[in-house]
Amino acid sequence: MTRLVLAVETSCDETAAAIVRGGREVLSSVVASQAVLHAEFGGVVPELASRRHLETVNAVVAETLSQATLELADLDGLAVTIGPGLMGALLVGMATAKAYSYATGLPLAGVNHLEAHILAAFLEFDRLRLPALVLLASGGHTMLVIMEEIGRYRVLGETRDDAAGEAFDKVAKVLGLDYPGGPALEEAAVDGDPAAFAFPRAMRAAGLEFSFSGLKTSVLYTVKRLREEGGALPVADLAASFQEAAVDTLVAKIARAAEETGSERVILAVARGLGLYYPSPALCTDNAAMVAVAGHHALERGERLGLDARPDPALTLATSETLVSPEAPASSEVPASSDAPASSEEA
Ligand code: ZN
Repeated sequence: MTRLVLAVETSCDETAAAIVRGGREVLSSVVASQAVLHAEFGGVVPELASRRHLETVNAVVAETLSQATLELADLDGLAVTIGPGLMGALLVGMATAKAYSYATGLPLAGVNHLEAHILAAFLEFDRLRLPALVLLASGGHTMLVIMEEIGRYRVLGETRDDAAGEAFDKVAKVLGLDYPGGPALEEAAVDGDPAAFAFPRAMRAAGLEFSFSGLKTSVLYTVKRLREEGGALPVADLAASFQEAAVDTLVAKIARAAEETGSERVILAVARGLGLYYPSPALCTDNAAMVAVAGHHALERGERLGLDARPDPALTLATSETLVSPEAPASSEVPASSDAPASSEEA
C-alpha cells in the first residue's frame, strides 16, 4: 500500500508540488504561479516558463515537505506530470522527479495531466461512483470523457478549434482585461447583463464536439463595431454575455452526453472562469495534489517511470480500447498515449 506520495507538476506556468496520503488526503500543496511573469505578454512564453520552473522547483518541493513536516525518507513514492504540456516545462519537472527518485530509491510514476485534472474530484468526494461522465475544460483542453474506472477513459468529444480556456483568454485580451482571461472575465461579468448581447451558442445542436472559435469571433466583431460607433465599451455586459454563451454550450453538451450515454453522474473538471465549479477552484487550476492522486493509483498498479522516459507534450487521454488492446506496447511504463495530436497549450 502506497501511503505518502510526493508529486511534481510543471506542465505549463505553475510550479507545483504536493504530498497526498492514501490518494485522498492532501498533507501539503504548494503552487508557485508564474502568471505575473507572463501577464505582460498576454500568454505563456515557453522559454520563460522553463527557466522559472528551473529556478523554483527545488524550493517548492522543500516547502511542500516542510509544510507537511516530512522528509524525503518518510515518503513511499513519487509522481510527476509527463504530458500534455510545454516540452521544456515538462522536462524540468521530470528531471527533478527522476533525480529525487534516483537519490532516494523511491518508486516514480508518470502521470497524464488530463487524468490528474479528472482525479482532483476524488480529493473532495471519496464516494464518487463510476462510471461517470466528465467535462474536462482546463486551459488548452475541452473534452467530454466517460470515466469507466480510475485509469480507464473514453473520449466522447473534444473541441474542433479553440479550447474554452483559449477563447476566454482571447476575449479577455480584446476587452482589455488581464491575463489569465478566465478570472478577469468572471470579475468583469459580475455587474454585467448576460442577456445584453446574443452571442452564438456554438454547435449546440451537433454531436458531442465543441467549437468556440465562432463565439470568439462574434465577440471580436461586436467589440470592433462598438469601437467604430464610439463611446465607452460595455465591458461588463460583453463579459457577462460571452460567459453565458460559453457556459450554455458546455451545459448543453453535458446534458446531451448524459442522455446519450445514460450517465447518472457528472464530474466537472473545469478551470476557473467558466462559472461551473465542482471540485473547489483551488483544485481546478494546475496543482500537484491532483498529480499525486493519479500517481498514487499508478504506483498501486505497479507502473514505474524509467529514468530514460521523455515528456510527451501531446499526450492524450487513452481510450479504454487502447488500454485493453493486446497490441499495446508491453514495455510502456507510462500511461498509454495515442498518436492523435492534441493542443500543447495547457494551463
Ligand atoms: Zn491543467
